[in-house]
Amino acid sequence: MSGRIHVVGLGPGDDRHRTPAAEDALREARHLVGYGPYLARIALRDGQTAHASDNREELDRARRALRLAAEGETVALVSSGDAGVFAMAATLFEAIEVEGAADVEITVVPGVTAMIAAAARTGAPLGHDFCAISLSDNLKPWDTVLARVRAAAEADFVMALYNPISKARPWQLGKALETLRGLRAPDTPVIFATAVSRPDEDIAVTPLSDARPEMADMRTLVIVGSSETRCVPRGDDGVWVYTPRKAPVPA
Ligand code: SAH
Repeated sequence: MSGRIHVVGLGPGDDRHRTPAAEDALREARHLVGYGPYLARIALRDGQTAHASDNREELDRARRALRLAAEGETVALVSSGDAGVFAMAATLFEAIEVEGAADVEITVVPGVTAMIAAAARTGAPLGHDFCAISLSDNLKPWDTVLARVRAAAEADFVMALYNPISKARPWQLGKALETLRGLRAPDTPVIFATAVSRPDEDIAVTPLSDARPEMADMRTLVIVGSSETRCVPRGDDGVWVYTPRKAPVPA
């Protein structure tokens, strides 16, 4: 009997942002495979086994899920946010491309990705055209990252920057902000949304001229506004950030 893999996005943190479909998939699985801290967010049921792995072992993790499913098991392969956004769903298909088609039923269950959760906390910064870029140069050359940041700025997209900084990648965000300062107005709103929907959530909105890499850590999603993104008062000294739905007609 062939098994099943549910690739499940757990959402950004708060269980209430996890979809009922994701809960169903987690309930149905006998094996839960994923990065340790993500598995820790799931309450194990009787008969379920958790297979925790290190953050860097993504391909091994996908292979383990495929192996278990090939033995007839039902597996949940979990990611935070959405599993298709800089996460395990693509790694699973990469493993299948390398190893050949598996006789396994696969479903990908969507989740609330960090940029959607961060945008909701701050207003509607993604109200008009936007893109998402991972600043990590672990899986692509830094020149590619910077070329994409530059192109997105020139095309006037709002940008959601994932993986902005880590101990192993301390300087990349500073370089990206410096590049953006050359292409966008100093008062462009920049959002640093850290640990959104978790107990230690921290949100800061600052003009591009004041944006500093120290405002981010590896749990931060950075949103850089377009030329149209603006702030409106919130009524509590803070601001809402939004991007109007209508772009101006060029003169
Ligand atoms: N699959 C995930 C993204 C994984 S990449 C998703 O869809 O959200 C990891 C990056 O996601 C982090 O470096 C950070 O930029 C962002 N991220 C994940 N969870 C977050 C949260 N709760 N708050 C802010 N950013 C988060």
